[in-house]
Amino acid sequence: MNEKLIATPTRTASIMKQYDLTMKKSLGQNFLVEAKILYKMIDAAEIDGETTVIEIGPGIGALTEVLAIHSKQVIAFEIDQRFIQILDDTLATYDNVEIIHEDILKVNFQSERYQHLFNATRLVVVANLPYYITTPIIMHLLNSRLPFERLTMMMQKEVAERMTAEVGSKQYSSLTVAIQNHMESRIAMTIPKTVFIPRPNVDSAVLNLTRRKLPLVEVESQEDFEILVQTLFKQRRKTLWNNLRSARDNWLEKFTEDELQAALEKSEIDGKRRGESLSIYEFAKLYIALVN
Ligand code: SAM
Repeated sequence: MNEKLIATPTRTASIMKQYDLTMKKSLGQNFLVEAKILYKMIDAAEIDGETTVIEIGPGIGALTEVLAIHSKQVIAFEIDQRFIQILDDTLATYDNVEIIHEDILKVNFQSERYQHLFNATRLVVVANLPYYITTPIIMHLLNSRLPFERLTMMMQKEVAERMTAEVGSKQYSSLTVAIQNHMESRIAMTIPKTVFIPRPNVDSAVLNLTRRKLPLVEVESQEDFEILVQTLFKQRRKTLWNNLRSARDNWLEKFTEDELQAALEKSEIDGKRRGESLSIYEFAKLYIALVN
């Protein structure tokens, strides 16, 4: 069975030869040629016949094919025009796949075309991401309000570690806080470079982000909260106080130094601490002290 799958070195090489394809490094094109990894991704995302899957970057269809076999429906977004015709051929036997030629970052999920996704029995996102835009893609999906239950995504190992980082660790950042407020994050597996054509320079991991029933902290404006957290991490070696008082290009600039001090006192947070030592609950306490 594996011999027939796209995700094998021989089949991938033969498709590339047939269409005279060269990979575009600038679009993060590293294709998976190990079916076992794909099956593990299907398990990690808990895909079944009731699941609708959004895929980002199908390439020549290695992951798309395995998704089509196990799920109800796959909607895949590919930016590279060259792959659209190829996918038409490689996935011709699957009638539950829709390929959309579009930059994922430009997709407006609120538009009429995607309304059916809001009524899906179960919606997940599965992808071997183009690594150069991992964070913008995840933030775009989180901001889309799509009711996906889980994101199962292959990415650079270091980025996966930042998204699962603990308070106080070197990897803990504003990205960790933004992700973990809404999603429970767990590395499902790490991936060797050898399973890709061409081999990437970095190690990879599959990250599972599962939606929490409720966010860890409820804030009036998610955007302002994220700006506050980013400000407090702006210069990691600076204290909270120094980062706060030098915020001159966002909503925090309206506060006087006295008001900033008062908010720190009210939230019982020592201004001499650094951003990396604050839990998400402490960031929220400070935010609430500032806006009330
Ligand atoms: N899914 C295939 C696999 O696993 O073998 C290919 C994965 S490859 C790492 C990333 C894919 O994302 C490429 O096909 C690339 O053309 C596509 N891509 C890059 N930027 C994109 C964007 N902004 N929107 C949609 N697809 C994009």
